[in-house]
Amino acid sequence: CGIIGILGSKEVAPQIIAGLKRLEYRGYDSAGIATLHDGRLARRRAPGKLSNLDEALSATPLPGIAGIGHTRWATHGAPNETNAHPHMTERVAVVHNGIIENFAELRRELEDKGIVFESETDAEVCPQLITYYLQTENMAPVEAFKKAIGRMRGAFAFAAIFSGEDDLMICGRKGSPLAIGRGNDEMYLGSDAYALAPFTNRVTYLEEGDWAVLTRNSIDVRDEAGAKVQRQEVISSASQ
Ligand code: GLU
Repeated sequence: CGIIGILGSKEVAPQIIAGLKRLEYRGYDSAGIATLHDGRLARRRAPGKLSNLDEALSATPLPGIAGIGHTRWATHGAPNETNAHPHMTERVAVVHNGIIENFAELRRELEDKGIVFESETDAEVCPQLITYYLQTENMAPVEAFKKAIGRMRGAFAFAAIFSGEDDLMICGRKGSPLAIGRGNDEMYLGSDAYALAPFTNRVTYLEEGDWAVLTRNSIDVRDEAGAKVQRQEVISSASQ
């Protein structure tokens, strides 16, 4: 029920946890984070309170200066570790809020191609579909994300990071809010400006159907049709 994404300049796991704590008020049943380290994706997830995730991270830390985090309010699939986000393949890790209404049909299509799912969630079709486009259709991350999001019906917010891409995060929204926060050589993303307040007050809100390609220094927003659009940066007054 909450999303955080950070392209940072120091160890990002503690920052992601701090952001997720500020989204706790939205309610959740499990949580998880994924980071990029040496070009590879890794994740930790835990059912229940964020303190469980915190403990898992203290036991086995997750290094890396880029990552995404999620608090889940289960809609499809029991609230357990396997169904907790991020959902990922070797190529991409994704966090998702909302519901993908046509997930069953997309899942069947991918399973028919031999792709094996590991969770019961609607969310997992997102990384599986992106991976299919990256691998089988040889698309670049931006193209693959665009094509995948274009096939999904429902209400959602997404954030994705890609293996081998240390300075790239792609996000999109339709029916669920998403705010981008610009730092100094750092880029943040969250379900609301309150979650971003410890890091930055320079906030750009995505509008309905928008998706954005982020690096530490750039925000490239596209509308649903794929056209470049300008969304104004505002100074948020959300309290730290
Ligand atoms: N529908 C997704 C799931 O059940 C995301 C739920 C959420 O918004 O946290 O995993």
